[in-house]
Amino acid sequence: RPFVRLVGVTKTYHAGAQEFLAVRDVTLDVEEGELVSIVGPSGCGKSTVLSILAELQAASGGTVEIGTPDSPFTPGRDVGMVFQKALLLKWRTIIDNVMLPAEILGLPRRASRERARDLLEMVGLSKFADAYPQQLSGGMQQRASIARALVHDPKLILMDEPFGALDALTRERMNLELLRIWRESSKTILFVTHGIQEAVFLGSKVAVMTAGPARMAAQFEIDLPEP
Ligand code: ADP
Ligand code: ADP
Repeated sequence: RPFVRLVGVTKTYHAGAQEFLAVRDVTLDVEEGELVSIVGPSGCGKSTVLSILAELQAASGGTVEIGTPDSPFTPGRDVGMVFQKALLLKWRTIIDNVMLPAEILGLPRRASRERARDLLEMVGLSKFADAYPQQLSGGMQQRASIARALVHDPKLILMDEPFGALDALTRERMNLELLRIWRESSKTILFVTHGIQEAVFLGSKVAVMTAGPARMAAQFEIDLPEP
C-alpha cells in the first residue's frame, strides 16, 4: 500500500456566487521513501495539492489517504515543508531557526538541539549554526530551511518550488544536494516545480499537471540507476 494515495481529488474555491475549479481529478500514488515530482505551469494547482496533503485545507472531492498501518501518519506532526523562500527568522541564529518546528511541537529541547546539529552537518552548514540568516547566501539559507523541515523527523516532506528563487547554477547544485539529502534521510518527498528538467532529474516518478482547470495530465516513472 502506498504511503500517499490521492484519488480523483478536486478543489473548488468560492468567490461570492462564483465557483472556481482550481484542481480537477488528481490521482497519484507515492510509495514510502519515494521522491516524486509534480510539474506544471504556474497557477495549475500544484500548491493547492500540497496544502491538501499538509491538511492545511480540505479537498472538495475525491479521497486523500496518507500513512499505512505500519507507518501511521499524524497530521501536523508528520509534515515538513519547504517553500520558495527560506523564511528564516532574522533575529534567530541558524540553529535556533532549524529547531523551531521541534519547539512548536514541544519536543525535548536537548535532543532537538542535537538533531538540529546533525542536520546542519548533513546540509553542510555546521560552521554556520550560530550565524544569523543575513550572513548566509540564498542557497545556504535554503539548505537551512531543508534542515528545519526535517528537525521533528516528519514522515512526509512537501517542497513547493524550493529552488525557484535561486540562480541557475546554485539551483543545479541544490538539485544534487537534495538527492543526497533524500538518500541519507530516506524520507518520502513531494517536490513541486514548474521546471520539467528539474522534475525529471529529481523524481523517480513525475506527475504532470495541466493549466486551468488543472488536472493530472500524465504520470511516468523513471528508471534510476543505482546510486
Ligand atoms: P500553482 O501552485 O500551480 O501555481 P495554485 O495551487 O497556487 O497553483 O493555484 C491554483 C489556482 O487556484 C490559481 O488559479 C489560483 O489563483 C487559485 N487559488 C489558489 N488559492 C486560492 C484561494 N485561496 N482562493 C481562491 N483561488 C485560489
Ligand atoms: P550559493 O548559495 O551562493 O551558491 P553556497 O551555498 O554553495 O553558495 O556556498 C558556497 C560556500 O561559500 C559555502 O559552503 C561557504 O563556505 C561559502 N560562503 C558562502 N557565503 C558565505 C558567507 N556569507 N560567509 C562565509 N562563507 C560563505
